[in-house]
Amino acid sequence: MNDSNRVDAQQLFTGPAGERITIDLPPPKSALVIVAHPDDAEFHCGATLAKWARAGCTVHHLVLTDGSKGTWDRGMDQSVLVEVRKAEQRTAATILGGTGVVFLGKIDGELNSDRETRAQVSAIIRRLKPEVILGHDPWKRYRLHPDHAAAGRLCIEGIVAARDPFFHPEQLVDGITPHRPEALLLFEPDQPNHAETVSEQDLQLQIDALLAHESQIETTHLYKSAAADPLQQFRRAQLERHERLGQWASVPLAQQFHLLTEQL
Ligand SMILES: [Zn+2]
Repeated sequence: MNDSNRVDAQQLFTGPAGERITIDLPPPKSALVIVAHPDDAEFHCGATLAKWARAGCTVHHLVLTDGSKGTWDRGMDQSVLVEVRKAEQRTAATILGGTGVVFLGKIDGELNSDRETRAQVSAIIRRLKPEVILGHDPWKRYRLHPDHAAAGRLCIEGIVAARDPFFHPEQLVDGITPHRPEALLLFEPDQPNHAETVSEQDLQLQIDALLAHESQIETTHLYKSAAADPLQQFRRAQLERHERLGQWASVPLAQQFHLLTEQL
């Protein structure tokens, strides 16, 4: 753990393999969430971001792809969809109390953790200097979407590149310095070891932010719903999911992560 212990979370319980399970980081001063697509952050950590923003945290979003495959409408102009999804993402980030969204604009479905993209992620981390970074778990098993795995790799590899000065030294000009975050929270974790408690108000903001992605309501939010009122079912499913995660942490509502600190 670093000297300041700013990110020291309290121990919740000991896991089945003797591992330390923790709950609730102190709200960081700044956070950066790195995702593959518009709406990924809202699904997996929206309520946590809302909680931190209310506590004074500056929350930035980095969206790696342009979301251009996020429709079932084969007549859709994809360049229009990209702009619609950017506007939706900005609205969603604002609902969660975020201050800015950076769009990298890679083609949806074709994300790679190549050297060029890793350098771009590193440059953004070095510029924004977030205390905590959140991202997809690159080690998550049985995941289908290739962008989520690639985004997870870009997150961890971007962190390594951002902290060490001989990675992309050309970036270290005009006051830009290497940066090492205090904590990394991987959402949709393969092996959860950390919970963030969230309130009903935080969860409501997450749901509002998800519904701001209007172009995704058919294809992502409600796509398996056969309910008479699919929107109501969506809200109930969100609540039930967070109640289930809360049970794991012995609190009413929670979000689940794999927390990394000492490896950073
Ligand atoms: Zn996604």
